[in-house]
Amino acid sequence: MAVDSTLPSAVSDKDAKILHFIDEMTKNVDSVQERILDEILTRNAETEYLKRFNLNGATDRETFKSKVPVVVYEDLQPEIQRIANGDKSPILSSHPISEFLTSSGTSAGERKLMPTIHEELDRRQLLYSLLMPVMNLYVPGLDKGKGLYFLFIKAETKTPGGLVARPVLTSYYKSEHFKNRPYDPFNVYTSPNETILCPDSTQSMYAQMLCGLIMRKEVLRVGAIFASGLLKAIHLLQLSWKQFAHDIETGTLNPKITDPSVRECMGKILKPDPELAAFITEECSEENWERIITRIWPNTKYLDVIVTGAMAQYIPTLEYYSGGLPMACTMYASSECYFGLNLKPMCKPSEVSYTIMPNMAYFEFLPHESSALELSRDSPPRLVDLADVEVGKEYELIVTTYAGLCRYRVGDILRVTGFHNAAPQFRFIRRKNVLLSIDFDKTDESELQQAIENASVLLKEFDTRVVEYTSYADTKQIPGHYVIYWELFVKDAANCPTDQVLIQCCFEMEESLNVVYRQCRVADSIGPLEIRVVKNGTFEELMDYAISRGASINQYKVPRCVSLTPIMELLDSRVVSKHFSPASPHWAPEPRHLA
Ligand code: AMP
Repeated sequence: MAVDSTLPSAVSDKDAKILHFIDEMTKNVDSVQERILDEILTRNAETEYLKRFNLNGATDRETFKSKVPVVVYEDLQPEIQRIANGDKSPILSSHPISEFLTSSGTSAGERKLMPTIHEELDRRQLLYSLLMPVMNLYVPGLDKGKGLYFLFIKAETKTPGGLVARPVLTSYYKSEHFKNRPYDPFNVYTSPNETILCPDSTQSMYAQMLCGLIMRKEVLRVGAIFASGLLKAIHLLQLSWKQFAHDIETGTLNPKITDPSVRECMGKILKPDPELAAFITEECSEENWERIITRIWPNTKYLDVIVTGAMAQYIPTLEYYSGGLPMACTMYASSECYFGLNLKPMCKPSEVSYTIMPNMAYFEFLPHESSALELSRDSPPRLVDLADVEVGKEYELIVTTYAGLCRYRVGDILRVTGFHNAAPQFRFIRRKNVLLSIDFDKTDESELQQAIENASVLLKEFDTRVVEYTSYADTKQIPGHYVIYWELFVKDAANCPTDQVLIQCCFEMEESLNVVYRQCRVADSIGPLEIRVVKNGTFEELMDYAISRGASINQYKVPRCVSLTPIMELLDSRVVSKHFSPASPHWAPEPRHLA
């Protein structure tokens, strides 16, 4: 069934209105985009940033494209720093910057700070409001039960100028839009707000899982934002099912849950239920955890998790735990801007395409082949409008937002798969330059290289150096962890680096990785980094293998990240020793560049 103007009769009036809105937006992509750009440029005409480019009141696309440069985060850093330091003049936006959203993308090892304005919450809310009417077209009866969603807030900080800096979802869950949302039978969660808003994520997850277990028969969908979050919750159940069963049997809450508001709200939900406790014990004490989701929550119709992009690595594990339930990837969003939704949410993960809603921001697309070229003001690149992208081509997404980002490179590569009405639909291909990712972390090639260089310093006194390396995001176990394969050149076999030193190298690498990685490590959503030392000559064998598969000798480069099974098998069969980081790296909520 498609989202279109011929709706089935069972659709409620409220849903019909929203589906009609989607229809209108997707039919009129180009005129909506023209209007949005006009609105943004009119309201921000007097900002310091836009005045620099002498638009002289013009709000049309041609003038905008010819005068305003395409930028990356680093280009805007001076302006962002001034706003963070308390400059309230209209630098990027005529509307006051209400807070910073801390992206999981980093710059110089620190989270990027995305300025936002208060009304953006309405825009995000609007996109959320589109999701259920679309889902209802495919899965009936979702108003007859609840969603078990593992949702979390994260630490927030203040900039020197007093603005709050926090992740976009933390901002949303703490907003009145979420906390005081009107009752909607299609959006009833098992997790009370108090458990979602608990700042200690371990206590939060525990309480949310407990609620999910207590209300297990009412649960119709199970989810988290990203696949990694849902798997972390399953892992908690694996570790703590005895405690959950005890809490449920006795009607008393685990004393480790100390947050007063969580204790208070759980007091109202938790009642002694020996039968349920016995059921949980029976299901969880089995060795085999296959289909655990459908065994515990038998009425689950689908998993609601993003498994596109870096999260695709978790699909087999989720299939195992859910017995192959459909995985709905419903939306595509970022700290900069919420982009769009999947109009066929029950499709296979490999077929997911997102339709960008043209009212969210002004979107442009840099053909991917040309994004490698240096973008300078003297030779403006040819950017394509949303309505003009071509099926089959790949583009880098560029946004101009109400909050004042102008022609900003998001860093996502998307492929056009087709059109819904006049609106293109995009497959998320990958994020530019990301080599390794387990959870929210995004480690690029230069960060990995730097971490290896920092760790290699410890090898000097052993006259040893790293001759080649590659990496692998190992997600076979939860939490996943980074594996770094090292081939070493040891000058004197009698003085080779000890296990202790290689363990220190693991730690040094972790200390060198970006703030999001270190935060995930501290939160235990990434396991200790592992170095696997391989035999001399292994990387030559790797090259031979690549050449045997058709790679050119002249152009061969050691892949800095590997995932193909035969390559993994080759590397693993040559491992001579394994070493793990002994402790979590340093992380504190205070962003270092703002301290
Ligand atoms: P952040 O700025 O930390 O909010 O991260 C936003 C980024 O997460 C996006 O630019 C994408 O790279 C990624 N992302 C968000 N939604 C999806 C999705 N549905 N599928 C794949 N990647 C996504």
